[in-house]
Amino acid sequence: MKYLECHIGDVTIGHGHPIAVQSMCDTDTMNIDASVAQCRALAAAGCDIIRLTTQGPRQVEALAGIKARLRAEGITTPLVADIHFNADAALAAAKVAEKVRINPGNFSKDHAVAMAKFAELLEICRREGTAIRIGLNHGSLGERITSQYGDTPLGMVRAVMEWLQVCVEKEFFNVTISLKASNTKVMSDAYRLLYKTMADELGMIFPLHLGVTEAGAGDTGRIKSAVGIGTLLREGIGDTIRVSLTEPPVNEVPVAAMLRDLSGKEMPDAASFSIDAATHDELIVKAAYIAGPGLLDGRIDDFEMRATVAGKPLAEAEIDAFKDDLLQACRRRFTKPEYIACPGCGRTLYNIQKLLKEVMEATREFAGVKIAVMGCIVNGPGEMADADFGYVGEGGGKVTLYKGSEPVLRGIPQEQGVEKLVELIRNNI
Ligand code: SF4
Repeated sequence: MKYLECHIGDVTIGHGHPIAVQSMCDTDTMNIDASVAQCRALAAAGCDIIRLTTQGPRQVEALAGIKARLRAEGITTPLVADIHFNADAALAAAKVAEKVRINPGNFSKDHAVAMAKFAELLEICRREGTAIRIGLNHGSLGERITSQYGDTPLGMVRAVMEWLQVCVEKEFFNVTISLKASNTKVMSDAYRLLYKTMADELGMIFPLHLGVTEAGAGDTGRIKSAVGIGTLLREGIGDTIRVSLTEPPVNEVPVAAMLRDLSGKEMPDAASFSIDAATHDELIVKAAYIAGPGLLDGRIDDFEMRATVAGKPLAEAEIDAFKDDLLQACRRRFTKPEYIACPGCGRTLYNIQKLLKEVMEATREFAGVKIAVMGCIVNGPGEMADADFGYVGEGGGKVTLYKGSEPVLRGIPQEQGVEKLVELIRNNI
């Protein structure tokens, strides 16, 4: 088996290199001062790779300005341009960023056009020494794939394999892959299947970027990420990781670093264990790392935990609350609503961190209902995948409310959004 490396500026991942921690700015990329400040803070927190939203040519230009400012300060952290739809933005960004993140299937509805743009991008990246991440998320597969395979881990893998075949034919190997989902089971199944498929069909393993997308905030966001990412890291799958939280991006870094560090240790895979942690975050990440894989894969149904944080034993009520969150993150028992919330980025059209808190507060009663809170109308609806209801920013102080994948209330003033969402859920469950 051939294990490939991916070179992103001076960071190399894959083939036994250390796992790199990533995060993504939630600033407007056009705001160079704010973006530089956030990159600086992320680099200081230990973030190895930083991604920024790069929707079009103006953002590519701003990214060049951000990069120049950071390098002048001696900050060498590689930058990744996050492209979703605009192939020309990808071609331009490949001359600026150390890596471009694309979903090439979104370049055009016409598969042949998308293929041609992708081939063009590979040539620019080869010339410039730029890496590529092919990032396909559950819920963002095109109709050509879903009509054949459904919106499934197999569909995600087949979609990505088409692009990897092109990379292999063109002998372009500076590539990382991600197959994220907000559902930890879908996410872990997709990565495992991709790993096996790359081995069987290509005889080579491209480095993998792991993440549970739209994981939300607080304990639940951390636990979901620790379960999905930790389960795969324990199996030796994963070369770079991002813990997506609907919180300031700098909060993501220590959680991801904990997961990276745990993957280098002998940790039990158990249904009964005790943990002495220095912080609350360390406790939940460790406990999810220990009990998560067994729960996720159905090897255990429940677990017993004794724990101390900073020397103080955890109260029974706190252990019970953690149990509820972990069992739900592993999709074993649903005692609360399931929140699917994007982390926010330069495309976010409102204060998503504050809004998510308000939605969580107002919808506590709807156990088991999947509620999405998404920052933008461009990517939000696709990426909220199998949510039952959704709140999506429209811009101009307006929001659209979704029932399943259907927009049912458009142009709702933001101040009425949460109330209307609760009404919509109540009338439809
Ligand atoms: S859904 Fe959220 S994270 Fe994704 S592009 Fe839109 S605002 Fe950014």
